[in-house]
Amino acid sequence: MRRILFDSLLKGPLTEPAPSGDDPELLALGRELKTALDAWFGGSLAIRMVDAGSCNGCELEIHALNNPFYDLERFGLKFVASPRHADMLLVTGPVTRNMREALERTFDATPSPKWVVAAGDCARDGGVFAGSYAVAGGVGVVVPVDLHIPGCPPTPLQLVKGLLALTGKAR
Ligand code: SF4
Repeated sequence: MRRILFDSLLKGPLTEPAPSGDDPELLALGRELKTALDAWFGGSLAIRMVDAGSCNGCELEIHALNNPFYDLERFGLKFVASPRHADMLLVTGPVTRNMREALERTFDATPSPKWVVAAGDCARDGGVFAGSYAVAGGVGVVVPVDLHIPGCPPTPLQLVKGLLALTGKAR
């Protein structure tokens, strides 16, 4: 116990330093996103997040979009609790057989026009879980996908870049 205490005093925290809230790249991307949302989406984009069977790594990065550092709501993105209030589904993970019907029903409950973004390598083709008896496949096997954001997991900035690319495709 004493050794652990001394080690932690000498080595400091093992976590990465917190990102800066005014990171110039984030601010530039955010402004671009806000301009696109104001021009083409009535000022905001409502996202319903669906975890179709991920390891939670992708979710942690997506949750970061709402934290005080990234704070994406200031640029017009918001997460909603119901697909009926959503413009877009953000789906992570391979689609497990148990989640297949839930994803189909969530897609059906989302009003048109709607977009589906698959986030993370598993969402493309099952990733490291491909071939498992419990996995139906990537998101595209179950619902039509408009955009895929690669990464394992994608970082918050990669997610913002992907959403920006979607606004270009959706116009
Ligand atoms: S892409 Fe990576 S982080 Fe995301 S669900 Fe798959 S294994 Fe987990």
